[in-house]
Amino acid sequence: MESPYLTCGIDLGGTSVRVGLFDADLRMIGSSSMATRVASGPDNAVAEIVDALRKLMNNESVESLLGIGIGSPGPINLRSGVLGPLPNLPGWENYPLRDALAEATDMPVILESDANAAAVAEWKLGAGRDAGLDSLAMMTLGTGVGSGLILNGQVWHGIYGMGGEVGHTVIQPDGDLCGCGSRGCLEMYASAAGLCRLARQVAASSIDTSALGVLISQPSGFDPKGVADLAARGDIAAKQVFVEFGRYLGLGIANLISTLDLPLVIVGGGVATAWSLFAQSMFGALEQHSVVYRLMRPNRLDALESDRTAIVPAKLGSSAGLLGAALLPRLEAGEQNRGLSLSWETHQ
Ligand SMILES: [Zn+2]
Repeated sequence: MESPYLTCGIDLGGTSVRVGLFDADLRMIGSSSMATRVASGPDNAVAEIVDALRKLMNNESVESLLGIGIGSPGPINLRSGVLGPLPNLPGWENYPLRDALAEATDMPVILESDANAAAVAEWKLGAGRDAGLDSLAMMTLGTGVGSGLILNGQVWHGIYGMGGEVGHTVIQPDGDLCGCGSRGCLEMYASAAGLCRLARQVAASSIDTSALGVLISQPSGFDPKGVADLAARGDIAAKQVFVEFGRYLGLGIANLISTLDLPLVIVGGGVATAWSLFAQSMFGALEQHSVVYRLMRPNRLDALESDRTAIVPAKLGSSAGLLGAALLPRLEAGEQNRGLSLSWETHQ
């Protein structure tokens, strides 16, 4: 019998769910997107996912499917496969997502946090692809700050699956109150929402903030792209917003580098596309705050040099989470074939 050659990746988010079917070379051969109907509950979402997968499989036999990987917002208990209190999925707490999906499909299901799935994708297929590294961190600067750690070839889960929450490390003890209950989390500064908050702070400061002031007082609201466009046109105040943003981000990464001495940190997510606006202050903060980075920095700041620590932009864009999810069953199968054990848990 022909060995299974397809994998299914699922990217579960607070507003939408994407289901993708991938061939042996991780080429997407079909995908389906749907709105996350949060109020209808997780059982209904699983039923819709299974329905979408059946349609994507079309004429493919069930035997051709190797497995299903799913990335979900965290926190998740990755040991038990049970969802934690998710801000974007209210009412889904304590739902056994992995088991429910495995029972509904009769397939092995690998559950990861969405940030870990994105880290796996960038590690194997994106910015880390040609480096051959077995340790790195990936930070996703979106609404919040997601992060995934790969240590010695494995996703670092911590004890319960909540390891690698770099976004909730504290960089300002008396700072703004975070949704997690702590004050001054990195996520309060180095995210899309954080950038908008910084824009309001800069607009209230002394330099010429007339254009930034107009932007942030728009009745329809504003987003990081609006600030970036203004900065790209040379507006001093908008540029200052990204300088502050880079300082906070660099401080967060400095703590990570000093703790783990990583060879690579990949920075992705929507705000990371403004890389040229914040990179200089980010690298400056790294220099200032991390002795390990000062010792290990490369000659060219964002280049990959052997035995040096590089901080580089992500390559896969918003598809990283879906790709990473689809990659999980394949990695697990490959590692098992080579007699290695992975920490990813499956449900048979
Ligand atoms: Zn927090």
